[in-house]
Amino acid sequence: MKIHEYQGKQILREFGVPVPRGIPAFTVDEAVHAAEQLGGPVWVVKAQIHAGGRGKGGGVKLARSVDEVRQISGQMLGMQLVTHQTGPEGQTVRRLLIEDGADIRKEYYAGLVIDRAAQKVVVMASSEGGMDVEEVAAKTPEKIHKVWVEPTQGLQDADALALCEKIGLPEGSRKQGAQALQKLYRAFWDKDASLAEINPLVLQGDGSVIALDAKFNFDDNALYRHEELLAMRDLDEEDPAEIEASKYGLSYIQLDGNIACLVNGAGLAMATMDTIKLFGGEPANFLDVGGGATAEKVTAAFKIMLNNPQVKAILVNIFGGIMRCDVIAEGLIAASRAVALKVPLVVRMKGTNEDVGKRMLADSGLPILSAETLAEAAQKVVSAAA
Ligand code: ADP
Ligand code: MG
Repeated sequence: MKIHEYQGKQILREFGVPVPRGIPAFTVDEAVHAAEQLGGPVWVVKAQIHAGGRGKGGGVKLARSVDEVRQISGQMLGMQLVTHQTGPEGQTVRRLLIEDGADIRKEYYAGLVIDRAAQKVVVMASSEGGMDVEEVAAKTPEKIHKVWVEPTQGLQDADALALCEKIGLPEGSRKQGAQALQKLYRAFWDKDASLAEINPLVLQGDGSVIALDAKFNFDDNALYRHEELLAMRDLDEEDPAEIEASKYGLSYIQLDGNIACLVNGAGLAMATMDTIKLFGGEPANFLDVGGGATAEKVTAAFKIMLNNPQVKAILVNIFGGIMRCDVIAEGLIAASRAVALKVPLVVRMKGTNEDVGKRMLADSGLPILSAETLAEAAQKVVSAAA
């Protein structure tokens, strides 16, 4: 799960990482009120969307008067902000952050992710702040300095200080920089984050260090123990089909192709998508209905898949282990009727009660193409979609 910058800064503040004073705003009036409360003399109006690159896209603007805050907020609220992370259609701006303008002497980068190979959190820091870190990593990887943290020890003073020295933070500001990194690490750890990034981490004119941006991703599997994070979820920023799927416990991810797939088990779903591609097709989605799919779940899955106007055919690939093939057949028949299915449907079922399930499909009177092997199913669905 992702959150907005202003929410990320709230977490940073809670853990003691210095951030500018700021107030979120949903309307122009709220923005003006926030600016008056902050008092100026310089404000920054920042579009809040779940994507980076806002600065370059026109989503971060300096204001030198309350009137300017009013004017910029009016332009920004409701706009489609396009950045290199949003895709060409952009993302609608519904929230703003009004904050104190910082006196930037230099911008640095700080980021934490989980290094799965090392099974540790890796803390990265660079002198090249404010830019795309992907670009720095690609062109000048030597400018990104890393420390792998021993989980039982946490980020040590010496390691944090060494990172600050390597990125060239002036001596007088290193201790504060190191503390900011250590507190960021604490926040990452305590909140079960999978990514935490401050870009830029700024050295101000007076030598103090402050976080001007905040990005967090959280491990969805740990959200059950973070109600405070769940409260920060912004459904406007998420894919509606994926939200609908999550209500039914379905793992659904929309893709660019035209062949919808309904599969049980993530591994089988991946293999199914690969096989579709092998025969020249393009999957329209990833969909894992999980182990305990009911008729209602299958119907919900059908509706979600068919909401995608690209879909030209459906492939159902089920291994009946815990889940019985006759239950799936029942679900498929009910779902096909409920949605008045108009696109070809290819079904491959293997496992428990396979014969019963197949007979039910054949007797249903529905135009369902059945297949024995995955290769046969993929070939049938690719030609049906063509
Ligand atoms: P994004 O990463 O989405 O472009 P940032 O929050 O990093 O958004 O802002 C982009 C740039 O805008 C920063 O690199 C910084 O130069 C400037 N900026 C952001 N917030 C402030 C602020 N409070 N005061 C002064 N400049 C800021
Ligand atoms: Mg940034």
